[in-house]
Amino acid sequence: MNIRFEQVSKQFSNHMAISDLNFTIQDGEFVCLLGPSGCGKTTTLMMLAGLYQPTKGNIYFGDQVINHLEPKDRNIGMVFQSYALYPHMTVRDNIAFPLKQQKVPKKIRYGRAEKTARLVRLENYLDRKPSQLSGGQQQRVALARALVKEPNLLLLDEPMSNLDARLKIEMRDELRQLQKQLKITTIMVTHDQEEAMAMADRIAILDRGEIQQFDTPEQLFAYPKNVFVARFLGNPPMNFLDAEIIHELDGMIVHGEGYHFYLQKQLHIPNKTKITLGIRPHDLQVVSERRGIFSAVVTNIEHLGREKLLSATMGEQPIRFFVSNDQKIKYGDRIYLSPNLEAIHIFSKETGENLL
Ligand code: ATP
Repeated sequence: MNIRFEQVSKQFSNHMAISDLNFTIQDGEFVCLLGPSGCGKTTTLMMLAGLYQPTKGNIYFGDQVINHLEPKDRNIGMVFQSYALYPHMTVRDNIAFPLKQQKVPKKIRYGRAEKTARLVRLENYLDRKPSQLSGGQQQRVALARALVKEPNLLLLDEPMSNLDARLKIEMRDELRQLQKQLKITTIMVTHDQEEAMAMADRIAILDRGEIQQFDTPEQLFAYPKNVFVARFLGNPPMNFLDAEIIHELDGMIVHGEGYHFYLQKQLHIPNKTKITLGIRPHDLQVVSERRGIFSAVVTNIEHLGREKLLSATMGEQPIRFFVSNDQKIKYGDRIYLSPNLEAIHIFSKETGENLL
């Protein structure tokens, strides 16, 4: 089932939590809503679940406007951050509970609960109580309970935030595989950019109630529309440097404090426009003094296994980059860096918009 938001806004007293949301999610797609705390992720999910009503605009499930449809009539499965399992019930009864509410006869609902339990590999735990399960198993019970009604839409609200780092990565894979197998349209709220990048077909990046960009992980990473998106995705984050543009005959000079370089690109902006130069840490290379564009002093070295993450300063300006493990660079060394000119970003200093 595809989902469409048409100019949806949600206001709480005088606070606009969501403004003018427009997007379509395709049938079978896995979409993440990603953004900082308070950006409106949960509000969006609640409107889909029917727990909040939009103040303005329409939400469509397929061709049908569902603004006023009761939550129970939406055929949605939902998994919350706290799994909200019933502690006194067995796994079997927890999973079968949504069917019991629908008054499905016992034999049928247990049959379906067992089938769903097999899907999430819980068939050997059906008689246990939630307290006798690990965190990952409890999470799977919550997932099975959300799936037992064979919903058209699965909503996940930070479903993995209670799992430890290793389990999280395992569950990411499992959840993603299950979603592809069932071909169920899924919307997951998260503030963890790595999780969103790892799982989503597309990510909607929200800030202050507005979508900043809605795109595939690859596109978001390579072509961020603005500084907000560029800063939000990527760990360690993109380096940002102040500069200005000076037009040349068939290109331009990017001029910043203590550096300048020529770029064979032309932008339709006034001469001396102030810009923010964006360079990802992997797009900087240590080079000889003669070839260096930036000159910096190393202030920190982090060993990450195959490579090292270095922090350095150019005057006041911090800059981070990676080097291979065999590079012999020490704390306090002066180094010279050259950016991969194919991969740099130029943002308007004024609006933050990507100008390339
Ligand atoms: P978090 O990651 O912290 O959960 P979020 O992106 O899910 O944040 P929302 O919970 O959707 O954010 O909240 C968006 C904005 O709306 C916030 O500024 C919040 O304070 C406000 N808000 C949310 N629910 C209500 C409510 N019931 N009444 C008033 N304001 C609300």
